[in-house]
Amino acid sequence: MIHRSVCRLCKADCGILAVVENGRLVGVEGDPACPLNRGALCAKGQALPQLLYDPDRLDGPLARDGEGFRPVSWERALDEMAAALVRIRTKYGGAALATYEGASFSRVNTQAYIRRFLHYFGSPNRTGTESLCVAPKYVAARATFGPGLLPTGDFARAEVILLLGANPAVTAMHRYLRAMDDILAAKEAGGKLVVVDPVYTETAAKADVWVPIRPGTDLAFLLGLIRLVIEENLYDRDFVARYTVGFEDLARAVREYTPEAVERLTGVPGSCLRQVARLFAGAGRAVADRREGLMHGRQATQTNRALLLLAAVCGQVDREGALRFTPSLSLNRKVLAEDRLPADAVFFARDRFPFGDEAGLLPETILSGRPYPVKALIVTAGNPVMAWPNTAKVIRALRELELLVVIDLYRTETADLAHYVLPGTTCLERNDLSTNSLMPYPLVRLAARVLPPKGEAWPEWRVFNELGRRLFGNGYAHASEEAFLEDLLDGSGVTLGALRDGPEGVVYGEVRPGRYLESGFPTASGKIELYSHMLAQAGFDPLPRYEAQGPAPDGEYPYHLITGSRLAAYSHSTLMNLPWLHDLSERPCAEVAPDLAEAQGLRDGDEVRVVTPQGAVNLPVKVLNASCRKVVLVRHGFGHTAGGRLAVAKGGANANYLTDDLANDPLAGTPAYRDGVCRVEKMAQERR
Ligand code: SF4
Repeated sequence: MIHRSVCRLCKADCGILAVVENGRLVGVEGDPACPLNRGALCAKGQALPQLLYDPDRLDGPLARDGEGFRPVSWERALDEMAAALVRIRTKYGGAALATYEGASFSRVNTQAYIRRFLHYFGSPNRTGTESLCVAPKYVAARATFGPGLLPTGDFARAEVILLLGANPAVTAMHRYLRAMDDILAAKEAGGKLVVVDPVYTETAAKADVWVPIRPGTDLAFLLGLIRLVIEENLYDRDFVARYTVGFEDLARAVREYTPEAVERLTGVPGSCLRQVARLFAGAGRAVADRREGLMHGRQATQTNRALLLLAAVCGQVDREGALRFTPSLSLNRKVLAEDRLPADAVFFARDRFPFGDEAGLLPETILSGRPYPVKALIVTAGNPVMAWPNTAKVIRALRELELLVVIDLYRTETADLAHYVLPGTTCLERNDLSTNSLMPYPLVRLAARVLPPKGEAWPEWRVFNELGRRLFGNGYAHASEEAFLEDLLDGSGVTLGALRDGPEGVVYGEVRPGRYLESGFPTASGKIELYSHMLAQAGFDPLPRYEAQGPAPDGEYPYHLITGSRLAAYSHSTLMNLPWLHDLSERPCAEVAPDLAEAQGLRDGDEVRVVTPQGAVNLPVKVLNASCRKVVLVRHGFGHTAGGRLAVAKGGANANYLTDDLANDPLAGTPAYRDGVCRVEKMAQERR
């Protein structure tokens, strides 16, 4: 039998056809009817059956027993957890509980039932992986276009595509697998692709112009582009006059970013800056877009703002072939029970970062007890030991908790530190909603359960529902997952029945270029805010300005360190235990720039120690085939010590032993994973 559903192994949410025979998943195919993947499926999606039947998956709930664990029934685990939570709330208050969701899990309905649980408990402290990555682009878009509007690039119709910190040839951009196909189609039609990236990526290899920029300086590059398009009268005067505010302020703010100054800051020659400025501003339809490379710097939000401002002054917003907006589905906020939160319940890092819910700051809060104690953490399908910056500190902090609960498929590194480890589900063993305004289509689907959960696993919804029933009484709980989803969809114009009857999804709105140019933007001024009133009111610079921040490469740490980039075969630190995927990547390495390799006499395969102020890891070297200078790249997600036999066998090193949890974007609080410094020590080599 063939079931239509959605792959949720990454956030691309590809439509799939799941083939089930005799109650067993025997294959997965891409759904040709899904506009996001149009029948395609990546290797991860194809490996779904291996995930479902992985013998290393957790069998049942575990409770801590000294240094190890003992099996425990669901009933007992939930009773004990509820008792511990009551104790913690009585002693420290409701805000002493925080939650964290991993990348493959944090979605509209999962966030909703976790928020609901927290709000009943009295805590504002929900975090997820979006706080580690996408937050700056949300804040930048809100500061520029107003709340709820996040633009995506209309690649297929663009004449020029300018990408910064993005590698869509490897990781799905804007949550659809076919983004790179659309970019290549635009190129086929005569368009030009410009890729700005310190590393010669798979996408850079397809570019007409590759700009190898010094890490952490994209903001200076973008301000230089804006200055040039203004200086050379290449900007769209009519668009700027009709739809934006703050042009004169912006023109003044970018005056200092001459090509010469930008070259000094970024390493990008002035001639290249001029070439890119003229190419972009000269196009009738152009997209300026970005991905995680622009989220992980020390000025990530202002860098994202500068990208939007470049598009705006060139008139490339809310138009075909430019940046455009997907409406979001309005869901029933009543289920969140926000009115139950005490008025003084404030997210633990809000005093330092007004616009983000940053997870990576939890260790500092747990260890310092400031601004208030956080003593309990529930982690759902996430792995802070691998994902959060400054791993040594993360481990110290998690050990301090009075209650750590991990719901996961595997006994991960974080689960190893937990008091309770609960077996969760794959995306084919639970019902989810799939919808997101980050996608280029206003589509909502039921990511439908195809098979019952394996063994004793529970859908995560049920864990929170039953824990909530114990803590808040029967009035809290929903009778079923379906009842919760119906509540959530209530008033949205879409029903669960419609999603069941039409598993290919329901289109709930339209992407109509020009909509906001006609109706106005939901900002204070009603226009695109080159000068952001939202930021000014919050006491921040309303205009982006480049500031050299953090430690510059120096004698002790002479190289730029980039961490956080991923490989196509895995989703963050997950899926390495699946045999098909295990073999799809080489041994993890420290990838180093050729000038660095030459200076230190390094060849491929040599063992090195990469050292930062936070820690050190040992890795073999691979010399990058590119002209970038003084750059070291340590990819994210490797170095498992738990989570399945093959995952551990994959080897490598956890890049977050090198990263700094307190180097953050000042607005969103996101960590500067790609803006570090390091040194490289050559180790005594074994004879090869
Ligand atoms: S791109 Fe993501 S959602 Fe699509 S098949 Fe691969 S893992 Fe699944």
